[in-house]
Formats: sequence, C-alpha cells, structure tokens
Amino acid sequence: MQHSLVIIGGGYAGTTLVFQLARLPNLRITLIDASPVHLAQAKLHRYLAGDLPFEEVAYDLSHFCTKYGATFVQGRVTGVDSLSKQVHTENETLSYDSLVVATGCTSFFPKQIENIHAHTIDIKLPHDLQEAKKRTEALFEESAHNHTIAIIGGGLSGAEIALELAQKAKDFPHVRIALVEQKPTPLPGMDTHLTQAALKACETLRVKRYHGAFVTAAGDKALQLSDGREVPFSLALFVIGVSPNVPAFTPPLSLTPQGLVDVDAYCRAKGLEDVFALGDIVCSYDANGSQNLPTAQVAKQQAKHVAKTLKALLAKRALPRPQSVVNKGVLVDLGGKNAAGLSFGVPLYGKTAYLVKRLVCRLHTRIF
Ligand SMILES: Cc1cc2nc3c(=O)[nH]c(=O)nc-3n(C[C@H](O)[C@H](O)[C@H](O)COP(=O)(O)OP(=O)(O)OC[C@H]3O[C@@H](n4cnc5c(N)ncnc54)[C@H](O)[C@@H]3O)c2cc1C
Repeated sequence: MQHSLVIIGGGYAGTTLVFQLARLPNLRITLIDASPVHLAQAKLHRYLAGDLPFEEVAYDLSHFCTKYGATFVQGRVTGVDSLSKQVHTENETLSYDSLVVATGCTSFFPKQIENIHAHTIDIKLPHDLQEAKKRTEALFEESAHNHTIAIIGGGLSGAEIALELAQKAKDFPHVRIALVEQKPTPLPGMDTHLTQAALKACETLRVKRYHGAFVTAAGDKALQLSDGREVPFSLALFVIGVSPNVPAFTPPLSLTPQGLVDVDAYCRAKGLEDVFALGDIVCSYDANGSQNLPTAQVAKQQAKHVAKTLKALLAKRALPRPQSVVNKGVLVDLGGKNAAGLSFGVPLYGKTAYLVKRLVCRLHTRIF
C-alpha cells in the first residue's frame, strides 16, 4: 500500500521536501499551493528593479511536480481535520497518512496606519509582485515629473529593495528612493558589519532615510510619520513584517505566543505524530539555542531533516537523531554588484559577497 504524503505550501521548504523524497517506492506525494508558482523570494528585489524576468523568480509548480513524480493541486487550504486525516481546499478534500505544513508567512499591514488599505501590495504574492513591478516601471518611464518610491521597513527585504531600486535610479534622476525605518539604521538587529555596509550603500546611492519614527497614515501624496514629518511619495511599498499563514486545524494546533506552530525536535506539530511543520511558520533554534532568522536556508535544512525522518518512518527504521539547523550566515544585496554578508562568521563585502550571494540564490532554485 502506498503511503500518502500531502505537503501544503510550495515555497522553499515544501519544494525541497518534494525533491528530497522524489520517486520513493511506496510513497505518493501531493503538493498543494494556493499559487501556481513557487516565488523565489530571495530574488524579488532584482525582479522589481528589472534585473530579472518574472520566469526567473516564479517557477511553475505543476511542471516541477511532474518532474519529480509528485501531483500538484492548485488551491487554498481552508482547513485540516487531523482526526479524520483530511485536508480541505476550496474545491476538494484530500486524505493523508502524513502531512507537512509549510505555508510560510504573509506580509503584515497594520490596520492602525490610516488608509493602509490603499497600499497593501503584498510582494510575497505573485500577482501583487507583478503589479508593484508595473507601477515601479511606470514611474521610471514618466520623466516629466519627479517621483519618490518609498520603502517602508528597513529589514533585509526592505533594504534590498530600496538599494536595488536606488541603483537603477542612478540612470533616472527624476526618481528618488526613500527608506523609512523606525530603528536608527537599516538592517536593525543584524551584525554591525552589515548595518554599516548598508548605511554606506544608502549614502552612495542617495537613499533618503527616515529613522526614529513610524508611519501613522498614508495620504494621497505623503506618508505621515509619528514625529510630524512627512514623506512625499508616488508609490509606497510596505515591507514591515510578516504574519504566519497557519491553516485552521481541527482540533487546533498548538501555537507559540508569536502564533508560530509549536514543534518538537523532529519538526512534528506538538501532540501529532503524523503532522510536520517547517519553514517560516515554525520557530527554530540553532545548536546554541539561539533563535534562527526565518530564511530560505533554514526552511531548506528543515526540509532535508524531515525527509530523513519520513524515510526512516516509511522503512520502519528507528528515527535518526534530531538535527539542529546550522546557521551558515547571511548575505544582503546592497544594489548593483555590491553586497555584504557573514559566512560562518567571516565578513564578506563588495563583489565577493555579491558573487557568493548569486551562487547561493542559484543553489536555492537549482531543483526547478
Ligand atoms: C523580499 C524577500 C527577500 C528575502 N531574501 C532572502 C535571502 O536573501 N535569503 C534567505 O535565506 N531568505 C530570504 N528571505 C526569506 C525567505 O524567502 C523565507 O524564509 C522563505 O521563503 C520561507 O520558506 P517557506 O517554504 O517556509 O515559505 P514560503 O516560501 O513563503 O512558501 C509558502 C507557500 O505556501 C503557500 N500557502 C500559504 N498558505 C496557503 C494555504 N492556506 N493553502 C495553500 N497554499 C498556501 C504560499 O502560496 C507559498 O507558495 C526573503 C524574503 C523576502 C520576502
């Protein structure tokens, strides 16, 4: 009898798992995703700036599943019944023996910001991403007026987008990039090597930075900041945080205070032997007990660990020893061929960091 594995979410975690378990005898894999494509989020800033075509950031999931002998179902999961072992989408119900939830996070748009609804372009959704690209292009082309593209949120995603667009704006003097970040530097909370490199890149590329205040309202032409300042804008992209997409479970899943799925050392949802959760919807720790940043490298490592566990379960072998995620470092694009990073604690800068980042991004998507 074939074991039915259902994976919800075709992001970095879900697709790595399909690849790791492809064509195992006695295993039938079904991947469900609300979207027809896997979005390579680590490359979105380069698509927005026109450096990459859409096909290089959005990979067809149906084609991917066919390549690895899995079945793709496009649909949004509306609920999971872990007692009857059934997953419900808008259109159908699927039964599973084992379930993997890898539904990632969605962008967060705080309702307290007045008129935020007019600016809820979620770059983590393929359609919205294309819309953001279209509006950005239009501003670069419309040289009769000066334009400011405001990026709100100076974390990894916001800083990369701001700096890549600022690099492009070097050839379009009528476009200015503004970065609004409440903390005193871009990349807050990251290593000082990275924050200093980001500050320097902002200066070189003339990014206008607003720190020490947060956005309270988004008017037609300007953002209002909490300290009374105004940020004029033609297009505003909010990249200020995420919230986990945990599907509704009956009975409910055990969650952490941050709303993430509570998992054991094997990434099994607490109290459920046959339900795994991985990627951005779980909180993971390295071997020293420090919380890992939610990144593609973490999602992919967890998927590899879960693949080993599932292989042992299918072969009725003892489970392998649980493995912690190894933090290999972080790389941040700083516009053009400039980047900065820490690789196993070693600082990398400029073209070297840029080339390493390209290699890592290529490795992330080589399975497609
Ligand atoms: C702009 C940006 C830049 C980034 N840069 C980097 C980087 O340089 N390096 C790095 O390591 N990380 C980077 N990250 C973080 C990285 O992209 C995430 O950590 C990673 O995508 C998490 O993978 P995941 O598989 O958990 O979730 P995701 O990749 O978010 O995939 C989740 C999938 O689940 C699907 N889904 C969600 N809910 C449902 C539902 N109810 N039913 C069906 N399907 C559903 C979604 O459509 C999506 O395809 C970046 C993120 C962003 C936004």
